[in-house]
Amino acid sequence: MMMAAAIANPSVSIQDLSLNFGVMSVLKTLNLDVAEGEFIVLLGPSGCGKSTLLNCIAGLLDISEGRIFIKGKNVTWEEPKDRGIGMVFQSYALYPQMTVEKNLSFGLRVAGVPKEEIAKRIARAAEILQIEPLLQRKPSALSGGQRQRVAIGRALVRDVDVFLFDEPLSNLDAKLRSELRVEIKLLHRRLQNTMIYVTHDQIEAMTLADRIAVMKGGVIQQLDAPQTIYNRPVNRFVAGFLGSPA
Ligand code: ADP
Ligand code: MG
Repeated sequence: MMMAAAIANPSVSIQDLSLNFGVMSVLKTLNLDVAEGEFIVLLGPSGCGKSTLLNCIAGLLDISEGRIFIKGKNVTWEEPKDRGIGMVFQSYALYPQMTVEKNLSFGLRVAGVPKEEIAKRIARAAEILQIEPLLQRKPSALSGGQRQRVAIGRALVRDVDVFLFDEPLSNLDAKLRSELRVEIKLLHRRLQNTMIYVTHDQIEAMTLADRIAVMKGGVIQQLDAPQTIYNRPVNRFVAGFLGSPA
């Protein structure tokens, strides 16, 4: 078996991670190192464990075995808020009674970030995501695409280096999906942050990823650059899911 080259000082390092729900083994001794600034896509069919893996990294689930490092620090038993990550979900999860601006500032106020700093971060996020005109609106007055921009903004203002995205575009129509895909790519180019992005959409994976981790049944089947996976899938499953039809 060919070994992947080790990554020096990985931004996120997942070591021998297992997760069971009762007797069901959902993640099976999984290993993954993500380089600083890398855009990793977790790709696989529904139920293969993508969201579970992301939630483990975020600290929203207690793992059964293994260790998780973020920026060299063992965060396996750290609270989600202390892990230095920002997360964006498929559903927008905005507070409906708050304006966009309040939605962006809420977590920062709770964390005790000074007012001027909050204003600065919101202005920057609003500029990057082009949501300045929306700041005083409530989520109910926004389109799906605008809401998802605000959800991304909420991760952005946290000023963290690691973003976890769980199917952020799945609820959008095809046109918006391809627009936001381009924006996420540009956002990543600009911020150079580490991105772990979950999707079941092959096109999204191929266009966004530096490397794709193809998952099936709680196991990473192949971890490679999109072109490598496409041209040289390691097994029938990967070939069928993403590889060339040859
Ligand atoms: P994906 O995001 O790839 O679609 P998930 O990570 O959501 O897959 O789920 C992986 C497996 O774990 C599925 O079989 C799912 O039914 C199961 N699962 C997910 N969450 C729970 C839970 N809270 N309790 C029990 N089983 C769960
Ligand atoms: Mg999922």
